[in-house]
Amino acid sequence: MRTIGLLGGMSWESTAVYYRCINESVRDRLGGLHSAQVIMHSVDFESIVALQKADAWDQAGAVLARLARNLETAGADCILICTNTMHKLADTVQRAVSIPLLHITDVTGQAVAAAGKRRPLLLATRYTMEQDFYLSQLRDQHGLSPLVPDAEDRTAVHDIIFNELCCGMVRENSRRRYLDVIATAKAAGADSVILGCTEIGLLIGPQHLDLPAFDSTLLHADAAVAFALERHDEPERSAA
Ligand code: GLU
Repeated sequence: MRTIGLLGGMSWESTAVYYRCINESVRDRLGGLHSAQVIMHSVDFESIVALQKADAWDQAGAVLARLARNLETAGADCILICTNTMHKLADTVQRAVSIPLLHITDVTGQAVAAAGKRRPLLLATRYTMEQDFYLSQLRDQHGLSPLVPDAEDRTAVHDIIFNELCCGMVRENSRRRYLDVIATAKAAGADSVILGCTEIGLLIGPQHLDLPAFDSTLLHADAAVAFALERHDEPERSAA
């Protein structure tokens, strides 16, 4: 089994979901007492948020690149950045290591396209909804025509992520606010919803929605497990 390297803590509320999902999936596939081989570096999120707010993306990229190198040195076989937003820096992180970075936009975009959906509503942080790094990849690599909420709704979606979900608060009012945003997008032609922030699955899931939902956290965790177990059935190379 390969070792999964997690760059986590952004926020730890969703990194905990990654850790649980990855281990549950390995247990379900291999049975017994099997669990995932994971190395994690979990940051102090306050320091990362300060860099985001200061528009100091280069500095944030340098931090994540250094931590990714540490994960590689410690024995990780791949890297996952456990946040959509910080995939703005995915190329910087990938250049810093010789192991593959499993890209959250790729696995999410692939899942949407494979389901035959074309016009997903992207719910995410302001950075992810308003800058081009994520939307352009959905468009150019996966042939999608993503929608984003209007400015007022983007503010609400963003604030609920940082002020509540990243702090472990899940509120019914906020769930209703998200569902209103989704209903507006459906009326405007959205055929699906991308939960494009790793905490959103704490608030809404398929049980709340009348559109197909693509949860980036779960898809990313699944991709990690697929990578880790890809060669599980092959004999160990080092075995005598
Ligand atoms: N976890 C969130 C995401 O997936 C937001 C936290 C961050 O800004 O990194 O984008």
